[in-house]
Amino acid sequence: MYQSIYSPSRRGFIKQASYSLGIAGIGGAAANPVFASQSLGMPSESVFPPEKKAGWAIVGLGKYATEQIMPAFAECKKSKLVALVSGTPDKAKKLADQYGVNSKNIYNYQNYDSIKNNPEVDIIYIILPNSLHAEYTIRGAQAGKHMISEKPMATSVKDAQAMIDACKKAGKKLMIGYRAQYEPFNLKVIEMVRSNALGQLKMITSDHGRILKPEEKADQWRMKKDLAGGGSLMDIGIYSLNAARYLTGEEPVEITAMMHSTPNDPRFKEVEENMTFLLRFPSGVIAQCNSSYSYQEVKRYRVFGSEAWLDLDPATDYYRHTLHIGKKESKEQILLKEGNQFASQLDHFSECVLENKEPKTPGEEGLQDLKLMMAIYEAAASKEKVKV
Ligand code: NAD
Repeated sequence: MYQSIYSPSRRGFIKQASYSLGIAGIGGAAANPVFASQSLGMPSESVFPPEKKAGWAIVGLGKYATEQIMPAFAECKKSKLVALVSGTPDKAKKLADQYGVNSKNIYNYQNYDSIKNNPEVDIIYIILPNSLHAEYTIRGAQAGKHMISEKPMATSVKDAQAMIDACKKAGKKLMIGYRAQYEPFNLKVIEMVRSNALGQLKMITSDHGRILKPEEKADQWRMKKDLAGGGSLMDIGIYSLNAARYLTGEEPVEITAMMHSTPNDPRFKEVEENMTFLLRFPSGVIAQCNSSYSYQEVKRYRVFGSEAWLDLDPATDYYRHTLHIGKKESKEQILLKEGNQFASQLDHFSECVLENKEPKTPGEEGLQDLKLMMAIYEAAASKEKVKV
């Protein structure tokens, strides 16, 4: 039996299963489908007195910083935006006014290092093109601040290691912005998979695609190898890779891959258009992943177990995650409270800094993805299986 419920944040009336699937670990979910974020490992509200917040500086005021991260501070309990670093003074001034950032706390890329003299700044978040993450993370650590970098952490294993080393040397924490690991639907799926709610885990498929648009400012650097490091794999295939790792809780041991770029397409002169890769995990689970810069928005994965499957589509978007679970002919939607993954990610790192805890997605997590992406490129170029 199904009951229809209205979800204003979604697409009107949706079907909600009102019975249990009878699969271990799923019954509770189906019978009581709305889960509070607190039960999913999200930072709890009671840990800090409300006045204790870490001060954040954002480096790079592009699309992701201004459209997703900066607005999320309004929903943070432990994080406040106190400084901006930008090469465009007018933009920085306008955003500082909008977010109540003191104009004395606006820096540019030249005087960035003087942020060390600003006690209001505890944490610096690097949201620049990929190859610049290393330099600004290292300079920030040397300025005595805790650091978070966007994904991919860097464009080479050497740079990623240098970032880890610099933060260690400075005695500062380093986190990578793997927001999906702070997002309630992904956390629920991890919990379900790890508790064998699907039976024995067998296979994961994951697709990430978006169209690289030459007319979009934010896409310009993505077409340049020296700034992006690579193409669709580095930009969005990384979500499939990271998901395969956090869903299985394992590290892959063998990789095969194929890569293709449309000949003479100016977008793909330097970076790859499409990448398909297979990861074999020690338990026998195989993940089959695709990334593309030339098909419409897709950010999904499907997990197959011996008893049931689940589908999260979208899985790694900003909003509107949609989770279905199926067994034989039945298919149910599982509803969760959406939450704000950006705010959860920010507050998680603030909590780590304020309470001296280690972040859930540290530099080593980014380094491992980078090593694996290099192995994927190697497998695609050599057309050989790569052992990792
Ligand atoms: P963007 O082009 O919109 O922003 C990049 C910013 O860097 C701009 O403000 C630009 O002025 C500045 N910049 C400084 N030096 C530059 C240079 N030499 N060339 C180009 N720009 C320069 O890009 P974006 O989409 O905001 O991506 C920034 C970072 O955030 C990337 O690492 C990307 O992978 C990551 N990102 C993450 C997510 C996510 O969901 N976690 C989403 C989008 C982007």
